[in-house]
Amino acid sequence: MVGDKLGRTLRDVRISVTDRCNFRCFFCMPPDKEIEFLQRSELLSYEEIARLVGVLVSLGVRKARITGGEPLMRAHLENLVEKLASIEGLRDIALTTNGYTLDRKLDSLVSAGLKRVTVSLITLNQDKFTSMVGRDVSLNRVIEGIRSARQMGLNPVKVNMVVVRGVNDDEILDIAEFCRENDLHLRFIEFMDVGTLNGWNMDRVVTAQEILSLLDKRFGVEELGKRDGSETSVRFRYRDTGQEFGIVASVTRPFCSGCTRLRLSADGKLFTCLFSDRGYDIKKLLRSGASDDDLKEYVKSIWTEREDRYSELRSLERAQVKDRVEMFRVGG
Ligand code: SAM
Ligand code: SF4
Ligand code: SF4
Repeated sequence: MVGDKLGRTLRDVRISVTDRCNFRCFFCMPPDKEIEFLQRSELLSYEEIARLVGVLVSLGVRKARITGGEPLMRAHLENLVEKLASIEGLRDIALTTNGYTLDRKLDSLVSAGLKRVTVSLITLNQDKFTSMVGRDVSLNRVIEGIRSARQMGLNPVKVNMVVVRGVNDDEILDIAEFCRENDLHLRFIEFMDVGTLNGWNMDRVVTAQEILSLLDKRFGVEELGKRDGSETSVRFRYRDTGQEFGIVASVTRPFCSGCTRLRLSADGKLFTCLFSDRGYDIKKLLRSGASDDDLKEYVKSIWTEREDRYSELRSLERAQVKDRVEMFRVGG
């Protein structure tokens, strides 16, 4: 086990397998912004990713989440899942996806060893969906993806709803109702100031407190707290059905003190915080004949020096971290 300067142990890795996406959500990858994507040769191969994850597991990592960009845009993702599933000591492999091609890929991913899936759902209205994701794509396909995951017995299937004031905050109760009916574990996410492109400001953040009071008024809710310190969402349950939901309140209730996550970008850089402006180039090491021990020492040296806690220092640090990495590059 390896601890950082604030005593946080390295436990999880988020792996971005691509920076590309079939959507252009305005809060992540705004359609009007020019974006330069990575070339194929710049991406880590699945073999390289799996080797690195093996090294991370030897340092104490127990959970891996595959994300992006849109991870299902990367061909044969099941091959990566299979490699990760064979790493002894890695207990959990999860995927975060926009769900658009999930329906047809789910079978092979689950057969390869995928344990959990989180699908993003930001509206139940097709017109609003088209406008929020910046593409003329069918919302129904996302909903079918979610339903397939549930029918396949993945439990819980998580649904992420980023809430942005004036855009989809009028659908908080509708999406809650949809998730209650379909037995999905909903997580509301406060709109975050990740990257530099999305025009974030505090006025657009619908706070955890606001979300909660809406839900409480309609359904009656009670707080369950966090299962463990490293969980990003605070858990709640509906009093009537007992079903759980969560709120990821990175802006109004930061959770840096329990942040045990390392992020690996698609081009092989390690990031110790979602709001960093610099990654550590581990691809160079991987491709220059380094041994597993060399990789281990490198990761250790990065983690032990870590003292990030951007969300807790948000107002102070905004001025300092000017070139924050984009979320679709580092993996949400
Ligand atoms: N493409 C996949 C998806 O959308 O689920 C995976 C990558 S995406 C960057 C991961 C998560 O980050 C999604 O649930 C997305 O809604 C969330 N996200 C993106 N931009 C965000 C922002 N500015 N604030 C809060 N959450 C955001
Ligand atoms: Fe793509 Fe996910 Fe970002 Fe939307 S949030 S643009 S689906 S990576
Ligand atoms: Fe972790 Fe950085 Fe987010 Fe804090 S701001 S929880 S350190 S990723």
